Amino acid sequence: MFFDTHCHIDFAELGDPQMTIQQAMDAEVHRLLLPATTQKSWANVTSIVSRFPSVYGALGLHPYFLSPDMAMTSSLSQLDDALKQRSRRIVAVGECGLDAMIDIDFQQQVTVFTEHIRLAQHYHLPLVIHSRKTHHHILSLLKNAQFDEGGVVHGFTGSEQQARQLIERGLKIGVGGSITYSRAQKTRRTIASLPLESLVLETDAPDMPIAGFQGKSNHPERLPLIFQCLLELRSETPDELKSQLWHNSCDVFQLPDTAR
Ligand SMILES: [Zn+2]
Repeated sequence: MFFDTHCHIDFAELGDPQMTIQQAMDAEVHRLLLPATTQKSWANVTSIVSRFPSVYGALGLHPYFLSPDMAMTSSLSQLDDALKQRSRRIVAVGECGLDAMIDIDFQQQVTVFTEHIRLAQHYHLPLVIHSRKTHHHILSLLKNAQFDEGGVVHGFTGSEQQARQLIERGLKIGVGGSITYSRAQKTRRTIASLPLESLVLETDAPDMPIAGFQGKSNHPERLPLIFQCLLELRSETPDELKSQLWHNSCDVFQLPDTAR
């Protein structure tokens, strides 16, 4: 069984979540983690996780969707309220993080992410982290906060040294569609060399298209294709790899490791 640890099945381009989930189940993807992106999306995320037992959620503010005129203080205090009142199916804080490749004030991103770290620490929840060209910033903010609740750095691309520092901070490395591209040599080498206990799989659907599906929306049902690529990069047997990835995913979100 597979666990898609990062997919936005609430996005309109994926259509009816029920259909997406059914197609995923048919492809052996039996659990999914749906991270919110904006304050507006929290209600829908909460509703989806309450309707579908295979889906778990995270609440947060994605750096992409921050804006200079947003009521930041009020959004963050409402995030605090939403987490305080969360259902048991909300198992993480995110999607949150930093992105050096977008035109959003970096200081604002840091302020918002720092508050996510504080809330995750306070509610003893792991973080679902977005990081583009910002691994060192993420690391120093987590270190300053003495953050120790774990989490996933999703859609990881980068060097082995960066990955190992994140793992030492207690984070897992989200392995997505980028490893399906032969040109992603550095990331493929990194993922091949990391301890298996540190890896989890994700599609980031509808984003991060898998090789062969460029220009199309990505879907959780394609997670096994990422698994196949990972299998080629690693030395473990298919069963070893599959069961350890499942275990790692349940572990990071503190879910029972049952129903294999
Ligand atoms: Zn995402």
